[in-house]
Amino acid sequence: MKTYDVIIIGAGPAGLTAALYSARYKLDTLVIGKLFGGLAGEAYEICNFPSYERISGTELMKRFLDHARSLGVELRAGEVIEIEKEKEGFLIKTSKSEYAARKVILAMGSERRRLQLENEKKFMGRGITYCATCDAAFYKDKVVGVVGGRNAAIMAADLLSQYAKKVYIIYRGKDFSKAEPAWLERLKKRENVVFMTNSIVTKLIGKDRLEKIEINSERELELDGLFIEIGNVPNVELAKKLGVELEGEYIVVDRNQRTNVEGVFAAGDITHNPLKQIITACAEGAIAANSAYEELRREKVL
Ligand SMILES: Cc1cc2nc3c(=O)[nH]c(=O)nc-3n(C[C@H](O)[C@H](O)[C@H](O)COP(=O)(O)OP(=O)(O)OC[C@H]3O[C@@H](n4cnc5c(N)ncnc54)[C@H](O)[C@@H]3O)c2cc1C
Repeated sequence: MKTYDVIIIGAGPAGLTAALYSARYKLDTLVIGKLFGGLAGEAYEICNFPSYERISGTELMKRFLDHARSLGVELRAGEVIEIEKEKEGFLIKTSKSEYAARKVILAMGSERRRLQLENEKKFMGRGITYCATCDAAFYKDKVVGVVGGRNAAIMAADLLSQYAKKVYIIYRGKDFSKAEPAWLERLKKRENVVFMTNSIVTKLIGKDRLEKIEINSERELELDGLFIEIGNVPNVELAKKLGVELEGEYIVVDRNQRTNVEGVFAAGDITHNPLKQIITACAEGAIAANSAYEELRREKVL
């Protein structure tokens, strides 16, 4: 079996930037990703990535992918289900294949957090959704709710307000001070948006699809759709099994993006960095690739 210098797990901003740096160091690089573009591909408008005043997540991540491909990075679609540490290097398993690597970069990002309410799974795709960018257009002239109070929720509400008749933004906090002021100001100008604070969704009600929600176990609100934007849960199961140290739910890395397991690096939303954004994911990806390269040189593999 061929042994790659570096295998990167995850094809979001962190993984693709790591790949780009790794390829430019002439390392034999493979990226395995479940969803090319990662969560960033779901952002409907990105206004804080330098050099683009505004760009859609889909377009930005297409450029990342094109850039990586232009450098000869090998990209494989698939889900890694196991990472085994061997005497020298690692064995990475997907459901279909196995790959060998000298170094591994974990860039698996995170998944959307669920409300954990009864009927949530049943109504998924039937009124319940986790991606405004993907589904906003289905709610033209409808009444929708967005659950959450941070940037992702504000941005989702802003997009939805351009399609839906009415948008309720439903947040358990007392105000929206955790959101970026620029996004909040923009949303406040939308006449079809209703802000609801101190409000917790306690029930999802409907027969075959979502028809209404219960708030604070007190009152009901009729809706055609509910967009859940309450944050993310990092994908750390593989890392845990490998013995990688965590802080809370996130991977602990040093300033070179090294984990406590030799030869394993981590980058992006999966790490304990304080700002989960595209630019920080990219920066961590670049450092991780550089560190892998330095280690391989020290080990005289290159
Ligand atoms: C709606 C929304 C809007 C946002 N807007 C902005 C914005 O305007 N500006 C900004 O800077 N940030 C924004 N963000 C945050 C930004 O998207 C993330 O910080 C960024 O995507 C993190 O990059 P990442 O590479 O660490 O993880 P991700 O983008 O989550 O990528 C992780 C990758 O790992 C893959 N993966 C996971 N598990 C496995 C496995 N077992 N095997 C193989 N592959 C796996 C996933 O499929 C994916 O390809 C937004 C996020 C959302 C949800």
